[in-house]
Amino acid sequence: METIIKQDRQVLWHPYSAIGTAASIYPVASAAGVRLKLMDGSELIDGMSSWWSAIHGYNHPKINAALNKQIQTVSHVMFGGLTHQPAVDLATQLVAITPASLTTVFFSDSGSVAVEVAMKMAIQYWYAQGQPNKSKMLTIRNGYHGDTFGAMSVSDPVNGMHGLFAQGLVSQFFADAPQCGFDDTYSDQDTASVEAILEKHHAQIAAFILEPIVQGAGGMRFYSPRYLSAVRALCDRYDVLLIFDEIATGFGRTGKLFALEHGPVIPDILCLGKALTGGYLTLAATLVDQKVATTISAGDPGVFMHGPTFMANPLACCAGLASLQLLLDSPWQQRIKRISAGLAVGLAPCRQLPQVKDVRVLGAIGVVEMHEPIVMETLQPLFVENGVWLRPFNRLVYLMPPYIISDTDLKTLTNAVVTVLSS
Ligand SMILES: *Cc1c(COP(=O)(O)O)cnc(C)c1O
Repeated sequence: METIIKQDRQVLWHPYSAIGTAASIYPVASAAGVRLKLMDGSELIDGMSSWWSAIHGYNHPKINAALNKQIQTVSHVMFGGLTHQPAVDLATQLVAITPASLTTVFFSDSGSVAVEVAMKMAIQYWYAQGQPNKSKMLTIRNGYHGDTFGAMSVSDPVNGMHGLFAQGLVSQFFADAPQCGFDDTYSDQDTASVEAILEKHHAQIAAFILEPIVQGAGGMRFYSPRYLSAVRALCDRYDVLLIFDEIATGFGRTGKLFALEHGPVIPDILCLGKALTGGYLTLAATLVDQKVATTISAGDPGVFMHGPTFMANPLACCAGLASLQLLLDSPWQQRIKRISAGLAVGLAPCRQLPQVKDVRVLGAIGVVEMHEPIVMETLQPLFVENGVWLRPFNRLVYLMPPYIISDTDLKTLTNAVVTVLSS
């Protein structure tokens, strides 16, 4: 185990990290169900679903079998001029389970790229209608949409370090983040800044992009479905497309198959990723309203200008199909409810701790928000000592376990949070 850690330190960069530091790194030997097995033989209960993605846990026999079969058939072909069954079947399924007006699917490799694609579609939609000036995005503060330049430009200016990349970033319009919590009463005051920006700048704005109901990596904030309905109405009034980024919330995490169903509120473009393949392979999808798709295709330059090399990779689409089948065949609503109740009860003692500002739960997402940023180098090893895998950031300790987690394992997770934060 010491050897691989040493080798890792010599050649690898990890997400949001520096090289040459003493920050802990844990080598995984294997993973099955909700357990990660480390190379020293110890086991950790996974509370992160590998960043929202491994909703069925690891090493699932059904997804394994589907992939084994697909690999014997075709692992990859270019998608320019060619097609295949896994892509057609997955797109058909995605169209079937999302709002009826979303009729066309564009596959890409990662969530960030799905967001870039959505933004480019919105710009091309207006360009095709002779309105090239409608090319900016409107979004809300505290959002997170990915790490590529377009996605960064609509992520929170402070968390996203806009100052650092200022020269390369398009400047976009930022409205206030919603202040009404999920169960709070919405008032028009909540969308006042959205309305003010739209009124003044709608001629320049192609689309409003936001994460419905749950703002993820930008602060793990939950907000009222009424806010979304108000945003939809404002977009209609000011001729601005609406893009929902459900890369984190999609596939059941909030208690609905898609967070937009809490309204329901229907976007013109929808981004999916993360749990799309059950955490097996990298794949994302941008779903588009029929009028947007046909307008882009009918106008100048006559095509949508994007095409990733690994677009609609057959293995990834196959994993997506198997994962979706597993989800839809499972009692996922009950599972989410049970996890929700377990998180609420299990995390409640954290409210008594002086350093804790708020504890909140929505669906299978549990959040303990501190007053001050946590020190990852201190907390991470303590969680591991307690047998769980959690990766807090900034002022947040958050849990989004695989849907298959048992009550006992969930209790171990929440107990570890209470113990570590109390120590
Ligand atoms: C993770 C995430 C992204 C970016 O996805 P990647 O696959 O990491 O590029 C975009 N939007 C939201 C809401 C996310 O949670």
